[in-house]
Formats: sequence, C-alpha cells, structure tokens
Amino acid sequence: MLKKTSHFLREANFIGGSWVEADSGAAIEVTNPATRQTIGTVPKCGRAETRRAIEAAQEAFQSWKKTSANDRAKLLRKLHDAIMDNQDALAELLVMEQGKPLFEAKGEVGMSAAYILWFAEEGRRVYGDVVPSPWADRRILVTKEPVGVIGAITPWNFPSSMLARKLGPALAAGCTAVAKPASQTPYSGLAWGVLAEEVGFPKGVINIVTGSASEIGDELTENPLVRKITFTGSTEIGKLLMQKAAGTVKKVSMELGGNAPFLVFDDADLDRAVEGAIIAKYRNSGQTCVCTNRFFVQDGIYDRFVEKLVEATKKLKVGSGLEDGVQQGPLIDDGAVEKVEELLADATEKGGKIATGGKRHDLGGTFFEPTVLTEASPRMRLMEEEIFGPVAPVFRFKEEAEGVAMANDTSFGLACYFYTSDLGRAFRVMEGLRYGLVGVNEGLITTVEAPFGGFKESGLGKEGGHQGIEDYLDTKYVCIGGLGL
Ligand code: NAP
Repeated sequence: MLKKTSHFLREANFIGGSWVEADSGAAIEVTNPATRQTIGTVPKCGRAETRRAIEAAQEAFQSWKKTSANDRAKLLRKLHDAIMDNQDALAELLVMEQGKPLFEAKGEVGMSAAYILWFAEEGRRVYGDVVPSPWADRRILVTKEPVGVIGAITPWNFPSSMLARKLGPALAAGCTAVAKPASQTPYSGLAWGVLAEEVGFPKGVINIVTGSASEIGDELTENPLVRKITFTGSTEIGKLLMQKAAGTVKKVSMELGGNAPFLVFDDADLDRAVEGAIIAKYRNSGQTCVCTNRFFVQDGIYDRFVEKLVEATKKLKVGSGLEDGVQQGPLIDDGAVEKVEELLADATEKGGKIATGGKRHDLGGTFFEPTVLTEASPRMRLMEEEIFGPVAPVFRFKEEAEGVAMANDTSFGLACYFYTSDLGRAFRVMEGLRYGLVGVNEGLITTVEAPFGGFKESGLGKEGGHQGIEDYLDTKYVCIGGLGL
C-alpha cells in the first residue's frame, strides 16, 4: 500500500498557487473501496473558497492569455513528461481511491498524459480566417480567443483522465481553470495541482477545490467570471448544471451517461466479438460511461455467443486492484452494489436467467461476481437505466432492422458497438445507430486523436480530436474599414 507520505497524496486544496484547508476546517474522509479503510481526508470547501479560486484564476488569466501558444505548449509538454515519469505512483494512488486494476489505472494515467501532449500541439493550430471582403476598402478577420476562466467538474470513475480532457484544451487555449474532482476520488484530481506546481505553471492557472458539490457547483455556475462549465458525470446533474449556467449564459460541455448497445450479427467473427464484449463490458467493473449496458445478439448465433461469453466471464480474476493478475476490482460503494442487485432482481422477475455470477462476491465488501444474464427483454429496467456494474444482459433479435431499433430505443446516445463481417451491413448499421461513438468489430475505441462525445441526453460538445479545443475558444469577427484602398 502507498505510504501516506507519498507526495501525490495531498490533503489540501490548491488555490492561487497555495495549498489550503477549508475555511471551516471541515474535511471529507476518503475510503479505499477494496479494503474499506480510510486513506485520508480532503478539505470540505464551499462557496467562499471556490470564489477565491475563481478570482485567482481570473487574475492569472490576464497574463496567461497573453503567453504564446508555443510557450504554453512547452509547459504542457513538461506536464506530460512529469505524468509519465510518475505513472506508477499516480496509478497506485488511483487504484487506492477508485479500485480499478493496476494495469487499467496505468492505462488511464498514460491516457491523461496523451491528452496533455495532444492539446499542447493543438493549441498551436488555433487558426483564424481572413475572409474575402464584400467591400473594396474593408477587410475581414476572424480570430479565436480563450473564453476565460473555466469550471471543470469530474466523476469518480476516471478521476485522472476526465480532468486531462478538460485541463489539456483549456490550458492550451489560454484559459485558466477551477476544477472540482469527485469526493470519492479527490486525490488523483489534487495530484494535478502537485504536478502543475512542479513543472512551473504560474499561480492561479490551475486551481483544485474539493468539498460540497452543490456549493462548489453553485458558485462555479453563478459566478459571472466563469465563462464555461465543462462537466463529466450523470445526465441528472448535467441537466441541473445546464440550467444553472443559463443564468449567466456560459458555454457548457456535457459528457453524460450512456446506455451502450453491443450488437452481434449472425455473420460476426464470434471469437472477436466475445473478446470485444469482455473489454466493453467488464473494464473498470462495468463502471464506465462507454461500457456495454445491453448486448443484442441475432437469433442464429445467440446460444453460441452466450456459451463463449459465459466461459470467458468465468475466467475473470476478481480482487484488489493492486494484486497481480486481477482483472476486476470492487464497485465504488454499497450504493453501486445495491443498484446492481435491484436491476438483477427486476430482470429475473421479468424472465431473465442468470447464466453465471449474479451475486456479491465471496471476497465481501463491494466485490460483485462478473455476471451474464440471458433472455433479457425490453420490459426490464436495465433496458434504459445505466447498470454501472459487471452485469451483461443478453437480448435476442431476429432481423437487422429490429436489432438497430432496439439499440436506438433509449434517451442516451454515447457509445455503441457492433460485430459483422458484411461490409454493406457495416455501413447500414453504422449509419442507422444514433450514437456519438461507434465501434465496428472493436470493443475499446477511445483515443486522444478522435472526438469523444454523445448524442441525445448523453451530452453536448466533444473532448479529444481537433474538435476538443473549440469549446474553450470564442470566435471574434473583426471588420477593418477606412483603408483607402
Ligand atoms: P455524478 O453524481 O453526476 O457526479 C459527477 C460530479 O458532479 C462529481 O464531482 C460530483 O461531486 C458532482 N456533483 C454532484 N452533484 C452536484 C451538484 N449539485 N452541483 C455540482 N456538482 C455536482 O456522477 P458520478 O456518479 O460521479 O459518475 C458516474 C456518471 O458519469 C455516469 O452516469 C457515467 O455514465 C458518467 N460519465 C460520463 C462520461 C462521458 O464522457 N460521457 C465519462 C465518465 C462518466 P461529488 O462527488 O462531491 O458528489
């Protein structure tokens, strides 16, 4: 176990370049979900501390926005290197507070570094336009400017990389930031402050506040100095933040819940589909926004797919994320386990059959058995609700159009996956699915080079790709007249 002296485990908030306590001295306990032991505490801050962080960010913005994109890129590259130099320590910290297996945590930290490097370069390509003028003596310029101070709120399931996707483009664009990590996993968020300080970001460019979600959220959304809210989390809280941000007409980016379908057609490469299914379902114990929530399998291949999926699921090693060979850690808390149990009870009452798993794991705590449920039907709650746990419900369909219609029958639209070896079908289905991310014969598709973001109630805006920096920029039209041309 990581020693409490680890210099990334910061029990203070980072405001205006200083490490501070909450004004009241109140603190939140942080628990290791695998051992249920307390790791430490973080400050329970509220509106006053958040306001000071916003003011520090606003002051820093006055000079940060004037730095060259090249100078910002140099600092971001140093940040990338610092993350990679400390990949093991940062990954261990992440496992301790979040529970995912160490190899996944290392992957997440590597992904964080990759986002920072990507946006370091993208910041140097924020091009404007010179537009052909309709007037002989006037010229038209279109320029891009950083929006100003941004407020970033992130969830517990990817406590490092969800901040990287926001801090990377914000800092590269010339914005400054106030970030609020999830209360269950604050240390990976606070580690960004440690890293920022070490690589020499000016005071106030990055601020990190932990504590009361509603108080911090209210200050971030209501304070007129904040010009953009970028949020990753549940659709419910996303909608609330959009309403609150409307009061001062801020830009918003929303990465919200998912309900990913995974379709397997009769002509699919079965082994490849099962391999993809395991990654797309059980990664992070099923607690990702892009995790498969519903498998739709065509009649002709259904039984063989289930047989192989069950076989592969039974091989998954469950345990503490820091143990060798573990592929599935605990769920984040008791509430998560209870939700999984409720959804399974509802499904079995409505005719679902447990093919493997289906109950709490012998390890106790919040460990849950990797589970396959067959004969799933649209009347079950898990057709629309995010399971956020290691349960794979397998629905049956006959015709291609029926499978696509079932997959689209949800208010969400984040990720989807499908397996086929027919090229025509691949295009038909890809065009028919109303999702922002589509994996064709692939179960793990996130990469910094591509735009990540949902349709419908899964969100607004894109993170990653060349699109990922746009939301941090304002576009300005400049008309220069009286040129005497
Ligand atoms: P959540 O309950 O919405 O919390 C996310 C963040 O919002 C946390 O920092 C939380 O703070 C904060 N928050 C809660 N209430 C708030 C309020 N009234 N005002 C301001 N902030 C508030 O979501 P979660 O359970 O942590 O995360 C799981 C959800 O995130 C799932 O729905 C998942 O699909 C989604 N997600 C989406 C993506 C994507 O890219 N689309 C990626 C990952 C996760 P506290 O922790 O202090 O409560």
